[in-house]
Amino acid sequence: MTQHRPFPILCFLFRKLLTLSLVLVWAVPSGAWGRRAHQMVNAAAIKALPVPLRSYFAAHQFYLVDHASDPDLRAETDRRERPRHFAEIEAYDRYPFLQFRRQFVLERLGAARAQIRHGTVMWQIERFTRYLEQDFRQRNWGEVNHDAVYLAHYAADLTQPLHTVVNYDGQETGQRGIHARFEAGLVDLLADQWVLRPRPATKLANLRSRIFEEFINSYRQAPAIFAADRSVRASIPYTSPRFLQAFAAAAGPVAYAQLEDAASFVASLWYTSWVRAGKPNLSGWKAARADRYPPKWRD
Ligand SMILES: [Zn+2]
Repeated sequence: MTQHRPFPILCFLFRKLLTLSLVLVWAVPSGAWGRRAHQMVNAAAIKALPVPLRSYFAAHQFYLVDHASDPDLRAETDRRERPRHFAEIEAYDRYPFLQFRRQFVLERLGAARAQIRHGTVMWQIERFTRYLEQDFRQRNWGEVNHDAVYLAHYAADLTQPLHTVVNYDGQETGQRGIHARFEAGLVDLLADQWVLRPRPATKLANLRSRIFEEFINSYRQAPAIFAADRSVRASIPYTSPRFLQAFAAAAGPVAYAQLEDAASFVASLWYTSWVRAGKPNLSGWKAARADRYPPKWRD
């Protein structure tokens, strides 16, 4: 059936504009925790390290914090990077994800082709722990900083509960925009009041098991975020400037707990890489100039 449409060109332009604005709005949630959150996690993780590793990372704090969101920048131009930031396991398994646990923890398998588009962040964390271990072993200081940033970014992304659900932006429950409201709007509003106190870093004996635990914990927090959003919206519309304030009061504790947990997780991953590499002497880093870290993309 055809329909008479007045001003077809205007309609076409309007639709194009609408599509473009939707793309722009959608571009925000694809990044995981916002920049501020990633920076907080990296800075706090450094404090949870034992010496001498803490001294090494503290000396490179500027790079580690400043580049905390580099993997998100890469995702903007590299399609292959995008699924490396989330874990929508519920797209092919159900809570408590025993089938996936068998594959990932017990059989130690890689991602099947059909799983990749639902997110590979858990494999990324393992991969970059290995890269960082190699960098330490070879005393490749420029690479240490680069890979420590990527490892920290993926690990923190896994602790963002909305990165573990298919309904990641509330698109299935009429709560569109919840992703950015939680990880950026809320965090930016509250971050000045927060001091993250991560647990001291420990060597992770079973890395995949620990990654899976982190995923399960993160997944379990998602319903509280959706519920907070829903209950605030019952009395305050999304368009009101008061919404974010009320949402932050309701869901802030979840964000804080997850960020603190992320810092503990990141510190333990950095530490584990160094221990696995045989705790190499860190004094050689002075040979590597801080401004000489080439932007290298691992494939
Ligand atoms: Zn990310």
